[in-house]
Amino acid sequence: MYDVIIVGAGPAGTTAGYLLGRSGFSVLVLDRKNFPRKKACAGGITPKAIELFPFDISGLVRRVCREVKIVRPGRSFFVVKAKTPLCYITKRMELDAYSLGKAVQAGCCFKKIDKIIRLDQDDQGVSLTLSCEGKTDFIRAGYLIGADGANSKIRRLIGGQKSCIVKLPALEADVPVKNAEFYKMTFDFSRDINGYYWIFPRKNHVNIGMFSARPNGTMNRALLKKYAREQFGTDILTDVKGYPIATSSGRMHIGAGRVLLTGDAAGLAEPLLGEGIYSALKSGILSARAIKYAAGQHVPASFEAFHRYRQSLGGMSLDLRLYRLCASILYTFPRWSLAVGSSNVLHNRFSRGYAGGKTLHEILIPF
Ligand SMILES: Cc1cc2nc3c(=O)[nH]c(=O)nc-3n(C[C@H](O)[C@H](O)[C@H](O)COP(=O)(O)OP(=O)(O)OC[C@H]3O[C@@H](n4cnc5c(N)ncnc54)[C@H](O)[C@@H]3O)c2cc1C
Repeated sequence: MYDVIIVGAGPAGTTAGYLLGRSGFSVLVLDRKNFPRKKACAGGITPKAIELFPFDISGLVRRVCREVKIVRPGRSFFVVKAKTPLCYITKRMELDAYSLGKAVQAGCCFKKIDKIIRLDQDDQGVSLTLSCEGKTDFIRAGYLIGADGANSKIRRLIGGQKSCIVKLPALEADVPVKNAEFYKMTFDFSRDINGYYWIFPRKNHVNIGMFSARPNGTMNRALLKKYAREQFGTDILTDVKGYPIATSSGRMHIGAGRVLLTGDAAGLAEPLLGEGIYSALKSGILSARAIKYAAGQHVPASFEAFHRYRQSLGGMSLDLRLYRLCASILYTFPRWSLAVGSSNVLHNRFSRGYAGGKTLHEILIPF
């Protein structure tokens, strides 16, 4: 019997695993992939997110962006600048393999599984039935952290199907270009896609992609190729990957009993730009803290961890509400919103806030 099983070795799972392993808990991390593995993600990490990593990831940063170009409907643009970094660009394949390595160094065991079949829980713990190398296996732990991303099986097994999860589509690809360093990090709202295109420069290529703020947004390789052709004069795309980003439409579904959902499994990504690494890290940290707290209470049949976790997510819930409000304004009135957003007063406030590692409510509601 383990103290904690973690399903999913993305940023939420590995952060929780690292913190629990380091504190002496016996932790088993499960993933259906072997690492390193590819992951659909542009790997953009904001200053507020980078501060949350419990270990140093500076060696994995491929590019530090101090300027962000915002393209408005009509294709005029403005540039947001800051003296300190606005975003760090990483490659998720490297970041996740590194983070899992750190969790294992901290004492976690890692197991690649085929699939999860069943989850049962009682007052004492959680039992997981899974298939591994073609055989059925049973594992038990005091707690389970569901960190298995937007299409979370754990969420479905604890009855989260009808919850308020909203999945927003995103598609990305790498474009090999000469002099990638000359390109600015760009969010392009000029196309009629209820979302935006992005350009994230890395070392010898740029990463481009599309994000839709509507669950049924149209997105395909042909559109991405067209965009690459327009921007870089080439439509050679490599590593084309798409996946939903899970956010929520209202009440959060963060688990039940001894199961805590984190990151995209709980729909914690923000719906404005689709940033999800920050909330994955934050909820990974908070879930680990809640389990540590409950273990310290020595109440065997308690739901202490779940209550503690729900309480500690309060600030994130407020932030997500603000993001939902901003997203509905931006994508309903993009022309007007970006005209307002391009004013020096506003974008200085945002750039300073973001570069200073602040959350949205800290930027918008300072008092
Ligand atoms: C195209 C794209 C670009 C994005 N760009 C950015 C960006 O630049 N910055 C940013 O902040 N966010 C970005 N996001 C969002 C971000 O990737 C996610 O919000 C973030 O990865 C969520 O982290 P997580 O740990 O919750 O889950 P994930 O990172 O999704 O990790 C889940 C893990 O669980 C495993 N898993 C899944 N199902 C099972 C199962 N049944 N059994 C076992 N294991 C399972 C997966 O293999 C995976 O390793 C992007 C998303 C997409 C799709």
